[in-house]
Amino acid sequence: MTVSLYLGEELARYHFGQHHPFGPKRQTAFWDAVRESGLDAWATLCSPVQAPSSLLERFHTPAYVSLVQDKSQKGGGYLDEGDTPAIQGIHDAASFVVGSVVHAVREVMEKRTRRAFIPIAGLHHARPDQAAGFCVFNDMGVAIETLKQEYGLSRIAYIDIDAHHGDGVYYPYEADPAVIVADLHEDGRFLYPGTGHAEERGTGPALGTKVNVPLQPGARDEDFFAAWPAVEAFLRAQPPEFVLLQSGVDSLAGDPLAHLALSYRAHAFAVTRLIAVAEDLCEGRFVVTGGGGYSLSNIAMGWTAVLRSLLEIHI
Ligand SMILES: [Zn+2]
Repeated sequence: MTVSLYLGEELARYHFGQHHPFGPKRQTAFWDAVRESGLDAWATLCSPVQAPSSLLERFHTPAYVSLVQDKSQKGGGYLDEGDTPAIQGIHDAASFVVGSVVHAVREVMEKRTRRAFIPIAGLHHARPDQAAGFCVFNDMGVAIETLKQEYGLSRIAYIDIDAHHGDGVYYPYEADPAVIVADLHEDGRFLYPGTGHAEERGTGPALGTKVNVPLQPGARDEDFFAAWPAVEAFLRAQPPEFVLLQSGVDSLAGDPLAHLALSYRAHAFAVTRLIAVAEDLCEGRFVVTGGGGYSLSNIAMGWTAVLRSLLEIHI
């Protein structure tokens, strides 16, 4: 079976302009590197799919979805307090992100593909009723709801290695034991959104189903590798029925918005280990998204390494 890679103009349009860190060249930077590496011959390319409002509303409130629709038509201003511009057309671009991730999840569940990668996705700060941190619709949240509502899953693992804490997934599911969260990120004392402390392990019936691993500014691959065994042991103890990974590359050294110093090897390693977890525990069901990442060369290196690991090409 194949590894599906979702790419296309509809996804490239998810950006906030030439001068914004979440700019228009992120998908191209990745794809150029993939073609240079020759990996494009091995992945199955899939066209973006748009999510209808009914799908967005599995995670988001109808009022928020129509607010985004309105502001996206007019263009101008912000969707939140000043991080996420309401640029024209952002509603459609964001709904293509969600639709593509949900399509990938369904393809994996129905065994039409082995695993999948959607680089322009992983918008893990968006909340049910608001945009945040460059994230309009939370594709991860909608994917989780799809796995619960369409497939009746009750143990969905969400792993997040973006530099920023995935607060838009953590807090909506803080008290939900069906969502198993492992989030490695820069310590919230030094970086947006300021959350994800080690003491945050879920609440009520979900206590113990989440792990937050704050990494110190300057943390390198060896720190990531040292933290990993506990994360993997935690996941294997749950154990998941589906594995989702948000592989933001703003955790790589030199990112202009964060202060970690990982290399692409951390991302390649996480993907390889999570393939093993998924193969051992849930018939290999594994979908990976990108996430943040504001250095084009880190995007090129980091996500090419993610794809290489997904393809299990170790040369
Ligand atoms: Zn980030």
